Amino acid sequence: MLNNEEKIVWRMVAMVDGDIISKDHKKAEKAIKQTRNAVVKRLCINAKIDYPYAWWQGSEAADKIEFVDKFLGTLISVISGSKVRAHDHELEFIRYRVPQIVAIFGPKPTDMTADDIDSQGNWHFGEGDHEKISLLGSTLPVPSDIRSKDQPTKQEVIAMADAQLSLDNCPGCNGDIPFGSIILITEFAHLFPANCCDNMIWFNQDAETDLEGLE
Ligand SMILES: [Zn+2]
Repeated sequence: MLNNEEKIVWRMVAMVDGDIISKDHKKAEKAIKQTRNAVVKRLCINAKIDYPYAWWQGSEAADKIEFVDKFLGTLISVISGSKVRAHDHELEFIRYRVPQIVAIFGPKPTDMTADDIDSQGNWHFGEGDHEKISLLGSTLPVPSDIRSKDQPTKQEVIAMADAQLSLDNCPGCNGDIPFGSIILITEFAHLFPANCCDNMIWFNQDAETDLEGLE
């Protein structure tokens, strides 16, 4: 019953956890892109993280797309609205782990603000109770201006200190240090998440701070 060329569309399908996702579009690249987005949405729901807007942009975009494309089948042209025949698309069952999805599509420490860090050193990246990560033992990107060339760009948080005992005033707003404020200590740097003015204030380890350790 093919009597109109406009009824031919490109169809991309994907399989996540055995479920078939299918997108038709008259432009091939749109069918692919919509299918990729649907795969990422599904994976993020499974991993209980927010769908990352514009996930295909940025420095690690190529790696992310390569990962997502494992779930995609072959692109074929079909009659619009026809039944999806999964076996025509050479799909493979892709195994993945939730921590892998969180690592690829989850929030990144570069998105962190001082308001999101509590007095126990947890970073709250979402509203839910489970949406937090302990920063002690986590690796943070350290700004280049407080780092010497031989120091690593990402450094592990190895200790925490009480900011009220370590600083007289906030270096950001010059106000009093709020109760419960902490300083995160890496091998070569210190980070004061200033809740008073919502600044992330980094120091080089040589800065004149007298740190009173909590742990
Ligand atoms: Zn401040």
